[in-house]
Amino acid sequence: MTNDNAAGFATRAIHAGQEFDPTTGAVVPPIYQSSTFVQDGIGGLRGGYEYGRSGNPTRTSLETVLAALEGGDRAFAFASGLAAEDALLRSALRPGDHVVLGNDVYGGTHRLINRIHGEWGIRHTAVDLTDLDAVREALGTPDTKLLWIETPSNPLMKISDIAALAELGHAAGALVLVDNTFASPALQQPLSLGADIVVYSTTKYLGGHSDVIGGAVVLQNGELAKKVGFQQFAAGAIAAPMEAWLTVRGIKTLDVRLQRHSENAQAIAEYLDGHAAVERVYYPGLPSHPGHELAARQMSRFGGMLSIALSGGTDAARHLAESTHVFQLAESLGGVESLIGYPSEMTHASVRGTELEVPGNIVRLSVGLEDVRDLLADLEQALAPAH
Ligand SMILES: *Cc1c(COP(=O)(O)O)cnc(C)c1O
Repeated sequence: MTNDNAAGFATRAIHAGQEFDPTTGAVVPPIYQSSTFVQDGIGGLRGGYEYGRSGNPTRTSLETVLAALEGGDRAFAFASGLAAEDALLRSALRPGDHVVLGNDVYGGTHRLINRIHGEWGIRHTAVDLTDLDAVREALGTPDTKLLWIETPSNPLMKISDIAALAELGHAAGALVLVDNTFASPALQQPLSLGADIVVYSTTKYLGGHSDVIGGAVVLQNGELAKKVGFQQFAAGAIAAPMEAWLTVRGIKTLDVRLQRHSENAQAIAEYLDGHAAVERVYYPGLPSHPGHELAARQMSRFGGMLSIALSGGTDAARHLAESTHVFQLAESLGGVESLIGYPSEMTHASVRGTELEVPGNIVRLSVGLEDVRDLLADLEQALAPAH
């Protein structure tokens, strides 16, 4: 039953690509920590494995489960989310091509497209993806080959309409990509909404335990999948066996984790909404969020990420970020432990002075799986006026 795409999501997360070890019966497939594979005579490969950059069984097991979760044919696992994005960009684009991307995409994505691929002749336009007219206009730029969507966006949790954007992108002859890192496949399935490509930082919810860096590209079979596979092999930014194994281990609990992340985040968003120290809460699970109805259609839950704008400005935001105890001050997101971040000087420092700059009164929370009353008490003490 293991690779049966008709099985439910949680079943696929636990079983796809995870056959027990045939020689010992070990329930958990071993970590194939090997750089090369013995041949039975020249070219006599066992299971197609030759050298660890071209393929490794542990990486295959991760790629199999990632494709199964997404309803895609193929997944390719990389050493980081940005390595996955880089391989995809080099597969999909040629010098002179133009990319349309959200004006609040992950800062590292903007840096990669602007400063690395920009040097190799890739042009880009950043637009508000919730403004479909602006997107249509940007897509009219000659040689637009890729529309890059991120929803919910980081850190302001804007929700954009994947199905509507996919139609616009395709009408303009562009490929449509979704960075689905914030939602994870447990909450949102972009290929089923019309996207061509999904990319992940598996470092976040897929790994889920803040102990591994990784990334992935998921798509249907075809020319582009061949090119991404070739980039992975020929440029070599592969997921290593230990990293692949840890990610697989994390994925087994993805569904249940995202339920709890979402419940905790909803309770925190409701508590902060209306708190005297808080000017605004950015969480799609709040009915007042401009993307609430769209998110309710497009996602199965609202996720574990939220941001707040502090009424007291930059000082209040910095104070909050440095005053919590259960929420630890660190970059990244999507782990079992709650984290707090100050985007303008942490995750989004690289986009200061660009159209992606984040206001100084914003604090971002990655809500973990702790007891929600401890999380609420932590925020309450950190937001209390100083005496
Ligand atoms: C973290 C992140 C990335 C980059 O992934 P790395 O694993 O850090 O290279 C890309 N997109 C989003 C939305 C992210 O949060």
